[in-house]
Amino acid sequence: MAKRLYIETVGCQMNMLDSELVVASLRKAGYEVVDKPAKADTILFNTCSVRQHAEDKIYSALGRLKHAKQHNPDKIIGVLGCMAQKDQRLIFERAPFVDLVVGPGQLHQVPELLEKVAAGEGQQLEVSLDRKAGTRAEIEESFESYDPLRDPQMRPTPYQAFVRIMIGCDKFCTYCIVPSVRGPEQSRPPEHIEAEARQLAAEGCREITLLGQTVNSYKHGANGHTTRLSDLLCRLHDIEGIARLKFVTNFPKDMTDDLLEAVRDLPKCSPYLHVPAQSGPNDVLARMKRGYTVEEYREMLARIYATVPGAAVTSDFIVGFCGETDEDFEATAQLVRESRFKNSFIFKYSERPGTKGASLYADDIPEDVKRRRNNELLAIQNEISEADNQPFVGREVEVLVEGPSKASQKHGDDGPVLQLVGRTHCDRIVVFTGNRRQIGQLLPITIVEANAFTLFGSVVTQHAGPEVYSLG
Ligand code: SF4
Repeated sequence: MAKRLYIETVGCQMNMLDSELVVASLRKAGYEVVDKPAKADTILFNTCSVRQHAEDKIYSALGRLKHAKQHNPDKIIGVLGCMAQKDQRLIFERAPFVDLVVGPGQLHQVPELLEKVAAGEGQQLEVSLDRKAGTRAEIEESFESYDPLRDPQMRPTPYQAFVRIMIGCDKFCTYCIVPSVRGPEQSRPPEHIEAEARQLAAEGCREITLLGQTVNSYKHGANGHTTRLSDLLCRLHDIEGIARLKFVTNFPKDMTDDLLEAVRDLPKCSPYLHVPAQSGPNDVLARMKRGYTVEEYREMLARIYATVPGAAVTSDFIVGFCGETDEDFEATAQLVRESRFKNSFIFKYSERPGTKGASLYADDIPEDVKRRRNNELLAIQNEISEADNQPFVGREVEVLVEGPSKASQKHGDDGPVLQLVGRTHCDRIVVFTGNRRQIGQLLPITIVEANAFTLFGSVVTQHAGPEVYSLG
């Protein structure tokens, strides 16, 4: 009988991809995926450590499983990903009924570790080396890049896929735990990436999003030749079947001209760039150790708009970072007002033990001030996003249709006509009435309405006029 697996994923696109790969390897080992923990005999959490809240959620979810495990000791419970790497044995201490803890650099071992648990070999812990626990080569080696297997069923749609082009990060922003839990920055060989992209195209995938914590820092050297992200995009651009190429997340300092020119010159490259600024004032940027000033960020933004006119740029911001004054916050608000980002992801600072930020600076901004600044910045951004979307009304855009909209899913629409959702080339969400046959296609849509988050439209009718043949 097939073993039943339930997997819950929190965090970024990297985690979504990791879960896809874990599920692919477990399906190969005879597992089937179920949609509720109660139906499963193996329950895995793929976790995130970027904010305290994300960790708290996992510990509460584990707490809720304690009784299930007491009633059914054969149920296997595992914690994977960043929190596993960060907390390691602490997870067994806080939740002694957990059977396995596996860091993001060891996910290829999950099937084997589950077998060991099932065979009665006790709790299993597999994590990579700490960033100070060896030479760079030894630490790099302990973070295994894990990409060979894909499982289209685990993706939001079969027409879109993430492809990892690098792992780890060497930037060490002071608030961020990623360099510790995801290890040193390592770029994958371009030929491996191309082979994976070709396989995805052969399976019907139309859009590939290249992933890296600092994706534009991608650099792979072999035989005296260096491949940059711009070179990689050129290489992938030729793959038949792939209609769109995107890449996230960019680091401002590494936004080079050759990359912007590739985005401008390669029609399949989406004119969409996510480049987190994080804060406006230079003293906060320096405490965050972001490696650029706000003037340099502005210069980069100007270069983007000059090279790729009409590019959609999005950003991330952290409000309430250590020592952030009202004036500092105003400088951030000003940066948002003038930059006209398509949208911004705004977060309240969450101190992460083990980071430089936690050891050097006091988390001294009260929660209510963080919340107020978060809401204020969000309101500013929403106004900009709405104004940014309005000019699309009356225009025709090309949309990759992803599937039924959330509203259609909620109403259980299963007839031939339903509300569909898709994205433009520059990553704007479009909702329109269509039919299931259109899912996975690139369709022309005329926009009739827009708000801050969504464009609403209708399919452009293709006029196929009567063909007139000469009888002569
Ligand atoms: S660039 Fe900074 S914020 Fe991004 S993953 Fe690396 S350390 Fe974290």
